[in-house]
Amino acid sequence: MRKHIFNAGPCKLPDETLENVSKAVLELGNTGQSILEVSHRSPDFQAVHDEAVNLFKEVLGIPGGYSVLFLGGGASLQFCMIPFNFLKTKAAYVNTGTWSTAAIKEAKMWGEVNVIASSEADGFTYYPEFTIPSDVDYAHVTSNNTIRGTEIFKDLASPVPLICDMSSDICSRPVDVSKYAMIYGGAQKNLGPAGVTFVIIKNDLLDRVVADRMIPTMLRYKTHVDKESMYNTPPCVNIFAVKETLRWIKSLGGLKEMERRAIERADMIYNELERSKLFRPVVKEGSRSRMNIPFLLREGHEALEKEFLDFAKARNIVGIKGHRSVGGFRASTYNACTIEDVKVLVTAMQEFAAKH
Ligand code: PMP
Repeated sequence: MRKHIFNAGPCKLPDETLENVSKAVLELGNTGQSILEVSHRSPDFQAVHDEAVNLFKEVLGIPGGYSVLFLGGGASLQFCMIPFNFLKTKAAYVNTGTWSTAAIKEAKMWGEVNVIASSEADGFTYYPEFTIPSDVDYAHVTSNNTIRGTEIFKDLASPVPLICDMSSDICSRPVDVSKYAMIYGGAQKNLGPAGVTFVIIKNDLLDRVVADRMIPTMLRYKTHVDKESMYNTPPCVNIFAVKETLRWIKSLGGLKEMERRAIERADMIYNELERSKLFRPVVKEGSRSRMNIPFLLREGHEALEKEFLDFAKARNIVGIKGHRSVGGFRASTYNACTIEDVKVLVTAMQEFAAKH
């Protein structure tokens, strides 16, 4: 039986993605070869790659003048590639939790970092307001904070190239890509399995690469843009899975429908957390993520944590143990999470509360 999966990533993927990847593992189309066997230089794989890129452009509405890359190394490699390529003297970063902190750490190796806003003093429980300065090489934000459960839903205007880590909310709402010089993330939440990183990069950002720094070939964005992600062997089967997920998103009506579903799922959980006598939300209103919802037991009931995890497990709910830095619970409700999954979770919360 398929479980109710609330993992933070890797996470639940659409049934269609799983079915079609399974078929392609046995045979890619009528090629007589598995997607695991086919050459990345073959027309058969090129067609898979091109469809993934074109669907991504179509679904997200990526304007002309941008390149789409599918690379290895995870979003974490982007934390270092971004400053390595673009940080000449100073960059602005917004610190909204673990992943921005990791990005800041890498950037500090290559220049000055101006942390223009941070919610650290308040346990990262809200998304801080900030103004992007014009005296920096670029600004970096994390639109959704997977661990802390805060999210910014605005595409901000910026006087300098704006770079955004959208690992955990990509394709969950319509985005004005033209506001960003670069959007990147690991695919393993809303798009596919772990092992492929998407990069949407404005071609003229490449003109801003630090000129007097030796940048290894694999760490240069231009290498991958020039070779359309085929400088080296790309993660073929993962790209196939991303293509299938993008097909699924498109078939359902695209990002407007993904957003409608995301709001419906998140509202159902936050409403329960607000009214529950046993559970409470962690994040302040106005910053609450639709993708990752951390919650705690109310004061005096903390000892029930393990009991609720077991209670949920018996109802086939998996992945709700909170991240160790926040504790309690976290429900990750990415695109493939259904309203039925959420109803099962909310019912479990209500039944558990009634029991205590
Ligand atoms: N940024 C965010 C927002 C994330 O959620 C994660 C992983 N969960 C990362 C970066 C790091 O991604 P990866 O593991 O692909 O390096």
